[in-house]
Amino acid sequence: MHLKRLELNGFKSFAHKSEFVFDVPIIAIVGPNGSGKSNVVESIRFVLGEQSVKSMRGKTGADMIFKGSKEISKLSRASVSIVFDNTDRVFHIGQHNNTKINVDFDEVTITREVYSDGANKYLINGHEVRMKDIHELIASVNIGASGHHIISQGEADRYLNSNIKDRRELIEEALGLKVYQYRIKESQRKLKRAEDNMRESEIMRRELAPHLRFLKRQVDKIEKAKNLRSELGLKYQSYFANEDYLRRKLARDLDIDREKIQAEYVQVNDFFKNYGEVDTQKIFSEEQDIAKAHKQIAELNVKITQERQELGRIEGMVAMLVKQQEASQNKATDSSIQKKHPGFSYDVVAEFLTTVTTQIDLMGVSRHVTFQTIKDRIKEFLKSPVEPAALPTFVDNSSEIKNLEEKKKSIHDNIEDLLGIIDSTQETINQLGHLLSTKRQQDQKSQRQYYEYVAKKKELDGKRALITTRDESLGLRANARNEEYQEALVLLGVSGIQYQTIAIEHDMDVTTQSQEVARREMERLKIRLEDIGGGSGVELIQEYEETLERDQFLEKELEDIKNSIESLEKIIEDLKETLNSQFNTGVKKINEQFDRFFKLMFGGGKAKLEPAIIKKRKRKASDGEQLELISEDEDQKVEYGIDIAVQLPRKKVSDLDMLSGGERSLTSIALLFALSQVNPPPFLVLDETDAALDEANSQRYGDMVEQLSQFSQLIVVTHNRETMSRAQTLFGVTLGKGDASTTLSLRLEDATQYAK
Ligand code: ATP
Repeated sequence: MHLKRLELNGFKSFAHKSEFVFDVPIIAIVGPNGSGKSNVVESIRFVLGEQSVKSMRGKTGADMIFKGSKEISKLSRASVSIVFDNTDRVFHIGQHNNTKINVDFDEVTITREVYSDGANKYLINGHEVRMKDIHELIASVNIGASGHHIISQGEADRYLNSNIKDRRELIEEALGLKVYQYRIKESQRKLKRAEDNMRESEIMRRELAPHLRFLKRQVDKIEKAKNLRSELGLKYQSYFANEDYLRRKLARDLDIDREKIQAEYVQVNDFFKNYGEVDTQKIFSEEQDIAKAHKQIAELNVKITQERQELGRIEGMVAMLVKQQEASQNKATDSSIQKKHPGFSYDVVAEFLTTVTTQIDLMGVSRHVTFQTIKDRIKEFLKSPVEPAALPTFVDNSSEIKNLEEKKKSIHDNIEDLLGIIDSTQETINQLGHLLSTKRQQDQKSQRQYYEYVAKKKELDGKRALITTRDESLGLRANARNEEYQEALVLLGVSGIQYQTIAIEHDMDVTTQSQEVARREMERLKIRLEDIGGGSGVELIQEYEETLERDQFLEKELEDIKNSIESLEKIIEDLKETLNSQFNTGVKKINEQFDRFFKLMFGGGKAKLEPAIIKKRKRKASDGEQLELISEDEDQKVEYGIDIAVQLPRKKVSDLDMLSGGERSLTSIALLFALSQVNPPPFLVLDETDAALDEANSQRYGDMVEQLSQFSQLIVVTHNRETMSRAQTLFGVTLGKGDASTTLSLRLEDATQYAK
C-alpha cells in the first residue's frame, strides 16, 4: 500500500485543480517561501479527517477554502482527494447505513469537501460516508489525521519539547498504541457515564422508595380488604341462602303448628260443649238412702231389745211361776238369798237389760252399767226387810205359764222377723254402698278429665300466644334480612352476593343459632373492613404496579450498571496492561534505533527513552506555584511518563535544555526516525524537518531518509539540496497569477534554483 495521488481543488492557496502523483518512495516538494508547500501537507491532514482547524492554521472551516484575490474570485468549496494503492487489499472498513462500504478495489480514494458555511462532506470511492468511517478506514492502515507520520513545519522537535506525560502519549501514538488509549479513554468515559448513571439511578431509587413503601402499604390494605370482601361475600352468600331456606322452613313449621293447635282447640271446645259445668259439691241419693237404712236398722234394734226385754220379763214371770208352783209342792225353804229374796234376780237384771237395750252402742252400756252401780244396787236391796207374809204358798200357775209361754213364742217370732228385716236392710245398704263407690269413682274420673281439658286449653292458649310471637319474630326476621341485604349491596354490590345459585343441603342443620353465629362472624368482618377503609383502589394499584415496575427497572438497571462498571474496570485494567507491556516492548525497540540514529547523527554519544514518574499535584497551593508531591504510599497508582536521556560525544550534557538548536533538531530527527523505523507508517510527511542542519548533517539526514524509505513512502518539503537529491520525484510549488499556487514536476538540476 502506498500513496498514489493527491488532488487539491480550491484548498487554501490552491485555487485551481492541482495534482501530485506519488509513485516513488521519496517525493520532494520544493518552492519559495509562502508558495503553498505547507498547504499541501495540511491538505493531507485535511483529507484524512483532521478536526483541528488550528493545526491547519485556520480559525474556521471556511479558512480552508481559497479566499479569492484580485484576479480570482473567492470560492465556496474546497476539495481534497487522496488516492491509495490497494492492490494488496489492506484497507478495511465496517458498515455504513447498514451497507458495507466496499473498499475491495485496487485504488481507494478518500475525498473531503468543505463549504463556506463550514459543512463537511466525506467520500470513499465517490460514496458519501461519515467522518467516523474515514477514521476507521485510515486507522486500519496505521495512519491518522494528526498522526506521527505528518510532521509539520517546526513540529519535529515536539517530542523534545513536550513534558514527560505528553511525550509518552506521542510515543504511544507513534507505536500505534493510540488505539489502546482511545479504548481506555472511551472505556473511562463509559465508566464515568456509568457511574453518573448509577448515582442518578440510586438517587431516583432512593426518592422512589418512600412513595413505593407508602403505596405498598396501601396496596396491602386493599389486598387485605379484597380478601376480607371476598370472605365476607362468601359468608353473605351462604348466610342469605341459609336464611331464605330457614325462613321458609320456620314459616312451614309455624303453619303446621298453627293447624295442629287449631285442631286441638276444636277437640277441647267439643269436650267443653258436651261436658257442661262441673258440680264439685255433688250429693248422691245413695248416701241418703244408706243413712235412712242405717236409721231403720237402729230403730229395728231398739224394737228387738224391747221385745227381748219383754221376753226376759215373761221368762222371769214364767220362772217365778214355776218356782212358786215347785215350792208349794216341796215346802222347802232355804236360807239362801234365792229363797229369802226371790225377786232379786228378776228386778236387778230387768233393770239392767232395759238400760242396756236402750243404748245403741256398747259405750252407752258401759256408761250406764258399771260394776259400781251394780254393787250399790245389790247393797241397797239387801238392806230392805223381808216380809214373812210374802212367803209363797202352794199355788197352781199352769195356765198362766202356758199363756206366758205362748206370748214368749210370739215375741221370739217377732224378734226373728225384725232380724230378717235388719238383714235385708243391711243388704240394701251394701248394694247402695257399692253403687255409691262406683258413682264416686266415675265422678272423680270425669272431674279429672275436666281439669285436664282446662289445663290443655290453657296450654293451647299459651301455644297460640307463642305462635303469634313466632309469627311476629318471622316478620322481624324478614326485615332484618332485608336490611342486611341492603347493607351487603352497598358494601359488595350485586355481583358480590350472588347467592341464588348456591346449593343448600336441605337436610343440613341450619338453625337460628347457626345463623346468628354466621351473622356475628359477618359483623366482625365488616368491622375489620371498616377499620381498613379505602375503596377498590384500582388507580392506586395501578400506580403501585407502575412504581414497582419502575423500581424494579431501576434495580435491574443498577445491577446492569454495576456489572458494566465492573467489566469496564476490568477492560480498562486489561487495556492498560496490554498498553504497558506493548509500550515497554516498543520503547525497548525504539531505544535500539534511537541510539543507533543518534550515534549516526552525532558520530557518537548515547540516547534513550526512560520511564519517569509523573508527579501529581495533590492540590494547587493557594500561595502561588508551590506544589506538593504525593508520595507513592499515598497513591498506589503511579503513572509513568517518558524522559529522554542523551549523552553527546565529547560534551557533558545532562539536560535536554542544554542542547543547541541544531543539536535539538538532530536529536529530534534521530528519535523521529527511530519511531518510524520501529512502527513504519505507510507514508511519512516531513515539512522542512531538515531546516536547521549543516551540510555534514544534511548528508546524514539524507542517508537516514533513504533508509527510512525502505519502510515508508516519504514526502519531504525541503529547501535542502542534499535532501532534494535523494528524491525520485520533485514537485515545484509556486504562487502564480492571482496568488494561486501552481505545481509542476521538476528535474533535480532545476529544483535547487526553483526552490529559491
Ligand atoms: P515557507 O517556505 O515559508 O514555509 P510555504 O511554501 O510553506 O512557505 P505556505 O505556508 O504553505 O507556504 O503558504 C502560505 C500561503 O498560502 C500564503 O501566501 C497565504 O496567503 C496562502 N493562503 C493561506 N490560506 C489561504 C486561503 N485560504 N486562500 C488563499 N491563499 C491562502
